[in-house]
Amino acid sequence: MIRGRIEKALSGFYYVNTGAETLQCRARGKFRREGMSPLVGDWVQVRELGGGEGFVEAVEPRRNAFDRPAAANIDQLVIIASAALPVTDPYLIDRISAIAALKDCRVLLCLNKCDLDPAEELYGIYSGSAIRVLRVSAVTGQGIDELRRELAGKLSAFTGNSGVGKSSILNALDPRFSLAVGEVSKALGRGRHTTRHVELFSLGQDTYVIDTPGFASFDTQELDLELKEHLPETFPEFAPYVGGCRFVGCSHTKEKGCAVLEAVHQGKIPRSRHASYLRLYNELKDLKAWD
Ligand code: GDP
Ligand code: ZN
Repeated sequence: MIRGRIEKALSGFYYVNTGAETLQCRARGKFRREGMSPLVGDWVQVRELGGGEGFVEAVEPRRNAFDRPAAANIDQLVIIASAALPVTDPYLIDRISAIAALKDCRVLLCLNKCDLDPAEELYGIYSGSAIRVLRVSAVTGQGIDELRRELAGKLSAFTGNSGVGKSSILNALDPRFSLAVGEVSKALGRGRHTTRHVELFSLGQDTYVIDTPGFASFDTQELDLELKEHLPETFPEFAPYVGGCRFVGCSHTKEKGCAVLEAVHQGKIPRSRHASYLRLYNELKDLKAWD
């Protein structure tokens, strides 16, 4: 048996990088029977068959797993946002960050198009939050080296509204990226926005980004119930204060003696972050297990 990581899944094959080579593998039938399929990003044990082929025999425990993109062990979610058109709503950032926190996934916020608009307001909010924030420009190259350092040694998934500059940033990181995307579209004979296959794009030793044309944001619906249960924990900047709330089980929405509200009032927690929390709280509060 040899250990490797699945870098691509296509047409029933898993492409496993063992460090020395990439093996084209089928998965054992037991995975299907157990209702658990290997995913891109998985660390696996492979039995070699020779001729560059093998069988995936076992999947190592995962840090996390997602349906869209269909991938596992995502270390970091890079949210691309912009203060220039199309302007990003902080609520979108906060909602995606909450899901990421739920999934043990670090968040890096990249404020792009800083050549057009320095994004002072968004930068102000997030430099005072628990979310790491970078100002970049895919056009001038500002912040791209810093972004590259933040990606090193991790598997990162990029997300953001269409038009914020996701592809431009990935191309600025490595021009081979657009070639890779182009090839895939041609090979499958479809436009890049309908492509279903998932592939890790290597940016160096142990450094990957998810090259998934066509996914715009994390699929969140099935996570809503879990999010409802753990909402306060997904806003890490609340953590230092929750112990000070007067009531056990304080919802941090309107209670007297709520230490989180007090921290917001004193400017220790960005108001915009708490506003997103309230909006999420209200959206999720009537959700039931059978919904
Ligand atoms: P995507 O839909 O998120 O992949 O966005 P694209 O990378 O296709 O970029 C959308 C548009 O914004 C294109 O016209 C890009 O040239 C432009 N754009 C992307 N990044 C920047 C940037 O940093 N500065 C400026 N001025 N324009 C940018
Ligand atoms: Zn409270």
